[in-house]
Amino acid sequence: MIAVTILGSTGSVGVSTLDVIARHPDKYRVFALSANHNVDELFRQCLVWSPEIAVMADPAAAGQLATALSAEGSATRVLAGAEALCEIAAHPGTDAVMAAIVGGAGLASSLAAVQAGKRMLLANKESLVMSGHLFMEAAHRSGADILPIDSEHNAIFQSMANGAGSHAAGIRKILLTGSGGPFRTRDLNTFGQITPAEACRHPNWSMGRKISVDSATMMNKGLEVIEARWLFDVPVADIEVVVHPQSIVHSMVDYIDGSVVCQMGNPDMRTPIAHGLAWPRRIDSGVAPLDLINAGSLTFEVPDYQRFPCLRLARAAAEAEQSLSVALNAANEIAVQGFLDELISFTDIPVIIEKVMAGTDQQAISELAEVLALDEQCRQLARGILKSMSKNSLSGAFDA
Ligand code: NDP
Repeated sequence: MIAVTILGSTGSVGVSTLDVIARHPDKYRVFALSANHNVDELFRQCLVWSPEIAVMADPAAAGQLATALSAEGSATRVLAGAEALCEIAAHPGTDAVMAAIVGGAGLASSLAAVQAGKRMLLANKESLVMSGHLFMEAAHRSGADILPIDSEHNAIFQSMANGAGSHAAGIRKILLTGSGGPFRTRDLNTFGQITPAEACRHPNWSMGRKISVDSATMMNKGLEVIEARWLFDVPVADIEVVVHPQSIVHSMVDYIDGSVVCQMGNPDMRTPIAHGLAWPRRIDSGVAPLDLINAGSLTFEVPDYQRFPCLRLARAAAEAEQSLSVALNAANEIAVQGFLDELISFTDIPVIIEKVMAGTDQQAISELAEVLALDEQCRQLARGILKSMSKNSLSGAFDA
């Protein structure tokens, strides 16, 4: 019986993880669950799963959850705050940790799980973007297995004979596929009028709002280039982004003998989640079998860097010292939240990121405290720029 902690259990990946676990009550049990504000959903999950611990990052929400659970006679212990997230991630009672908190808020707890040598099911790509070297070193030291849950990296892992790949294994390059998002063919002149609802309407995947906007700007693919660089220890120049609108091929590895190995499947996160949970075995995920005959044509295109400047910025950060990846990620989070709050337009997102990157010195980073300090500094800078660009200029509306 594997005990699983789900960081971010109320989100899109968290809910899909519980769906897979529900299919295998003989193999997995839930040790701990967590959320930020969503008391109703975490309350419901606690009644169904009876975890030993439930954490709400927001202390007021934790108080509400504790009251509601005790009224039901639940034995689940409720903890509050960011430190409690690290506590459940590294707890001796858990074997595997699903890191599915969105954004930089997930870094400390993912790192805590890796340092404690847990099986790390890594969905929170921002952790690796912010602290790639630190994170991978911690995993080497503790012996933690990192199972990529991002569908592309999971596909690459599977195409590398269970992740045992490196240049020594004859890899020429990684072909990182992306759908191109909802605006791949939209008239560029109308990008200024894109609404949050349009940006969150992904053609193939159902996801949380932040990653949906990242997919629309293709920053998501950029973050994934940085993620792949660290996970697979491959030079950035050998990671090629390929636009594949059907989202059937989830990425490929190109070998020096001319072989190209890929992983395919319907676009449903339960496949990589089930793979990560069961690796090196396989379990049922609930995902419908891929019907290639009816899937239609599979097409591949080069990305359009003019349409998607965020992809260019992310590649530049990936080639530079770690500090620029921290700046890229922090500015992106602030800008995306500003766009979702309708304070800035879609086309302002890359402008804010570029300015924050330009205002950040290039430096290597070796400590978590340094990452967190720089992250906060870059967020402040991004908030200031966002405020000056804001459509509504609402003071106090910049706490993203
Ligand atoms: P969602 O927005 O759907 O869920 C985010 C989860 O994180 C929720 O449980 C939320 O709690 C919690 N959370 C948010 N902010 C904080 C915080 N400050 N402290 C603690 N918990 C917090 O995100 P997704 O599930 O879409 O994505 C999660 C991660 O997985 C992201 O890093 C994303 O890039 C990655 N990913 C997602 C994919 C997908 O298909 N969705 C695919 C590949 C990767 P609450 O509900 O209370 O707000």
